[in-house]
Amino acid sequence: MQLEALLFLANANRYSDTPASLTDYLAVTRGTASQTLKALERRGLIEKRVDASDGRQQHCILTDAGRAVVDAVPPLEHFDGLPSEVAGPLEAHLESLLVSLQRRNGSRTFGICRTCAHFEPMARGGRCGLTKERLAVPDLALLCREHTPPA
Ligand code: SF4
Repeated sequence: MQLEALLFLANANRYSDTPASLTDYLAVTRGTASQTLKALERRGLIEKRVDASDGRQQHCILTDAGRAVVDAVPPLEHFDGLPSEVAGPLEAHLESLLVSLQRRNGSRTFGICRTCAHFEPMARGGRCGLTKERLAVPDLALLCREHTPPA
């Protein structure tokens, strides 16, 4: 659970590195998410920072030690060994199935900007149509709790 939480926080954008987002992403109770975050904090793997514009909001930021743990995790190779003509369509079908299940259950999709209905591409990076904020290129690869798949 702690590693899953750390991996999520390492890949969450600025709207999503919060206890509430972690609760939704892991589909656990607020208490479980809170205990997990406290354990990570005690181990020096994350630190909590109050949001600059909303004092009630807290961001959970990886420390250098937390980043080192994440960097040591080997990448998942879901389709390792499959030829590309099989892996490509299989990935597309699985993604479509996942989105359909998420829609049916009313759960958040936690996707990235390039696959979001709110994304407005620009020369370098883009803009979020929901928050009206500029998105730098590195932001585009991060998970977002407000992600909305195109209809
Ligand atoms: S474009 Fe979509 S995924 Fe990107 S920050 Fe905005 S709501 Fe989130």
